[in-house]
Amino acid sequence: MVPCFIGLGSNLEQPRQQLVRAFSELALLTSSKLITKSSLYISKPLGPQDQPDYINAVAELETSLPALTLLSSMQAIESEHQRVRTEHWGPRTLDLDLLLYGQETISVEQLKVPHPEMVRRNFVLYPLFEIAPDLNIPGLGSLKNLLTKLDDSDLQKLEPDE
Ligand code: ADP
Ligand code: MG
Repeated sequence: MVPCFIGLGSNLEQPRQQLVRAFSELALLTSSKLITKSSLYISKPLGPQDQPDYINAVAELETSLPALTLLSSMQAIESEHQRVRTEHWGPRTLDLDLLLYGQETISVEQLKVPHPEMVRRNFVLYPLFEIAPDLNIPGLGSLKNLLTKLDDSDLQKLEPDE
């Protein structure tokens, strides 16, 4: 089994429910086991600002699926959430990004791992740190160190009963 980390994001159609549903769909993936879920975080949109705030989270999964098969399964979940890809960085009902696949570096047309944008995104690194504080990001060093370069002032952690 390979430990994997998946970033979840949504800013449409009741984003919190989208993420809660996505967690349970990830838990049902074949040859995989959902290990941990981070808290939910509210973040400001990247790119176009005329869209609602995002809810983000990170999940840890153990899987024996090959990385590209996992990616297809994640895309199937996105489709079930009726995600329609329109503009780049535009609003979405559900975005699932494969952040890390064990300690592997993958660079093929459909899949780049570690996810190239993750180290610049506080809404990825903070939830990741919450569930895996000792993580190493292949080629980029310790998560702890990467986190010191990102401030979290525009990020709000939701407590479970909020
Ligand atoms: P973004 O998440 O950057 O806003 P999209 O979710 O629309 O954009 O991008 C999806 C595309 O990114 C897919 O075609 C997929 O093949 C590609 N991709 C490359 N690397 C990854 C990754 N690590 N996780 C998810 N999708 C990836
Ligand atoms: Mg994506």
